[in-house]
Amino acid sequence: MIDAHCHLQEFENPSEVISGLEAVICCGSGVKSSQKAVELASKYKEVFATVGVHPEDINDRDEKELRKLLKMPKVVAVGECGLDTGSDEEVDLFKFNIELAKETGLPLVVHCRNQFEKVFEALDLDRVQMHCFTGNMEQMQECVRRGWYIGLGGIVTFKSSHELREVAKEIPEDRLLIETDAPYLAPEPVRGSRNTPQNVKIVAAKISEVRGTSINQIEEITTQNARRLFGLS
Ligand SMILES: [Zn+2]
Repeated sequence: MIDAHCHLQEFENPSEVISGLEAVICCGSGVKSSQKAVELASKYKEVFATVGVHPEDINDRDEKELRKLLKMPKVVAVGECGLDTGSDEEVDLFKFNIELAKETGLPLVVHCRNQFEKVFEALDLDRVQMHCFTGNMEQMQECVRRGWYIGLGGIVTFKSSHELREVAKEIPEDRLLIETDAPYLAPEPVRGSRNTPQNVKIVAAKISEVRGTSINQIEEITTQNARRLFGLS
């Protein structure tokens, strides 16, 4: 399986938490964490890095250093970036990340908390991962119409996520990605504990249950999709 989004920088012993996985996308969220992601990618064959600036790290934006990091081996996307509050500063930072994706030709990893209108307005790329998707059916359909991929994580397992499970049923097979966002957002039944990329299997099991298909089938299609989006060989 592939964990299409996690923060391996937060683990003391990365090899332990990625054992048995085919690939892991380790996301940067500012210059420092992007540097660390690139380092981890050089050290572990399963690990691939993303380089970008998330709104939480809005001040960790050394543009020269980011462009340098984007040229390193095994950097497969720009991000994670996106919108939390949708402030002008965030939109400006988001547009900068979009610019980096255009310059490099890499896909973009997008974080969106209830800011779909502004994301739809600012984002004119077609290779996009909407990471840890929590939108509604219409928002999912609009993302799919634009050719974007939908990443589902632990939230889909939460007891209260009825609507998201309805959305999960309808995501076209070739647009679905599975991710953990570890160490955050551990799935049920280990919710509240420290999440690890190993829990990608719990998310896959829930999605296969919701979609009425086998875990093998979910693993297979989401692995193919991640390979296609991130250009993994
Ligand atoms: Zn993340």
